[in-house]
Amino acid sequence: MRRKLVAGNWKMNGGLAANAALIADVKAGLAAAGTQADVAVCVPSPYFAQVQAAVAGSALALGAQDVSAHANGAYTGEVSGAMLAEFACKYAIVGHSERRAYHGETDAVVAAKAVAALKSGLTPIVCVGETLGEREAGQTDAVVGRQVDAVLAVLDVADVEKIVVAYEPVWAIGTGKTATPEMAQDVHSKLRGKLSAKNAVAAAKVQILYGGSMKPDNAKELLAMSDIDGGLIGGAALKAVDFLAIVQAA
Ligand code: PGA
Repeated sequence: MRRKLVAGNWKMNGGLAANAALIADVKAGLAAAGTQADVAVCVPSPYFAQVQAAVAGSALALGAQDVSAHANGAYTGEVSGAMLAEFACKYAIVGHSERRAYHGETDAVVAAKAVAALKSGLTPIVCVGETLGEREAGQTDAVVGRQVDAVLAVLDVADVEKIVVAYEPVWAIGTGKTATPEMAQDVHSKLRGKLSAKNAVAAAKVQILYGGSMKPDNAKELLAMSDIDGGLIGGAALKAVDFLAIVQAA
């Protein structure tokens, strides 16, 4: 009953020529094969105008990789939700582990960003995930639970259905190591339980994505799990054939 969502996270990759070729190939592939899934690309902000124009009228949606928690003002280097909305961004990733690790984003900041995205009509893709050390110490459930609870604590009950959650174990990102389908399903079902405690009707509708070295050769078995509703794709989103193969698996 939940649609799948496959979202590419280009991270700090791309360029005008490379983007044009990648989007053209992805669009052609989607048009040729069709898809039941929602599909998006989250691109670096300088390329919003380019990608907005390139995806117009196609099945591909545009997303951002971050959004400011603030509406406007003296926040040098930040980009507001209203600015993203002007470029027809549909999604904004918030709380990616690289933002948490390299930019000191706390659970509270991530929660404020999710609210800011919603205020501008964007769908926040709220990322949670444990480090290897945390998993080995048996803290996975506590860590991802704390991360998602921080967001749920500031959301209106009616807004729960407007978010997307992405479970991205930090040790699986860009490493070629993937959580097994069973490991991911276990966390996804617990995340849905957290959502359900806030709004049970909404929780059944929320797309919970898996991210962390999802590739064409492991996507199908991950996406077959009952609480895995799609993927947040890093490395494999930079090659049209790989990204399209994951979309086809969804
Ligand atoms: P990866 O990245 O697919 O390259 O592991 C996923 C992500 O960080 O969103």
